[in-house]
Amino acid sequence: MTHKPLRLHLDSDALVANWRWLQERGGAPAGAAIKADGYGVGARAVLDKLAEAGARDFFVSTWDEAEALGDLPEGVRLAVLHGVGPDDGEAAANSAARPILNSMAQVSRWRAMAPERPCDLMVDTGMNRLGLSLEDLGTVEGLTVDTLHSHLACADEDHSMNTRQLERFRDAKARFDAARYSLANSAGTCIGPDYGFDLTRPGLALYGGIPRTEARGHIRPVVTPEAQILQLRTLKAGESIGYGATFVADRDTPVAILNIGYADGYPRNLSGHGHVRLANTNLPLIGRVSMDLVAVDITRSPDWREGDWLPLDFDLEQVAEQAGLSQYEVLTGLGTRYGRRWS
Ligand SMILES: *Cc1c(COP(=O)(O)O)cnc(C)c1O
Repeated sequence: MTHKPLRLHLDSDALVANWRWLQERGGAPAGAAIKADGYGVGARAVLDKLAEAGARDFFVSTWDEAEALGDLPEGVRLAVLHGVGPDDGEAAANSAARPILNSMAQVSRWRAMAPERPCDLMVDTGMNRLGLSLEDLGTVEGLTVDTLHSHLACADEDHSMNTRQLERFRDAKARFDAARYSLANSAGTCIGPDYGFDLTRPGLALYGGIPRTEARGHIRPVVTPEAQILQLRTLKAGESIGYGATFVADRDTPVAILNIGYADGYPRNLSGHGHVRLANTNLPLIGRVSMDLVAVDITRSPDWREGDWLPLDFDLEQVAEQAGLSQYEVLTGLGTRYGRRWS
């Protein structure tokens, strides 16, 4: 195999510490959302590390994602958020995962397929995306329900929807018998134990995302992209660099050209904002972020050679803000050119 031209440096200790903090904060066992290949971090590695730390419940979106995980460690349970659609019968029959049934059509399908096999249900409490209505929930029978879920629409804000959804979920719990109840994503978990019930389903915050201010100072960064120096040059005073000639040097400036760009999920809007983060100093990006290249002013740390690796600052809150993206998009946009290195 050819060597990967970029690296994602991934911090196992931070991942596990984030999971533990969420478990404590939510006052309930924390699962882990590992859909979209663990938000780009690598679903199987995340599953193994969190299972070793004690996590038991994992969530993917599709049966394809469930299958890609391969055999699961002892005691680990997987649930599929999109449930069982008309084309999922075979995959579901061959999987150990539970579907999370979202509609009455899915309920009928599963009851015809495997009424005794444990499944989960999603009840809609106001998101109006996936899930049974409270009324339909009251008519469900003939299933073996493990967990009744709902999902919060606005947990990342102090919004009146939160308490409204909480009340509706309590109502659903009083009306429908399941082995467990689960409401909170990362943001809901950060609000506190009222939203914890029997199981939380964090995703973003596991990977270093900050969904609410309560997480600041507790949730640690997990992901750092590292790029290689392709070329070193001196930009002469008065000369410009990159597309659009947006940066003009006011002095002779030593520059390193790195092999990362927006095709690697390094947002183009970080032009003029991004930097390489070294132990003692930051090196600013200059000029535009290209598809596969960026330029760095290395004046403050000039002793590099072609092929050296440099870490890009990847504070998710700040990068998302500067890029005009959500933290979710920043993580899941990272692209396929990285080798992943866990420490
Ligand atoms: C993706 C997802 C989660 C995780 O959400 P985060 O905001 O990443 O913590 C939890 N529950 C459901 C139903 C989801 O789809």
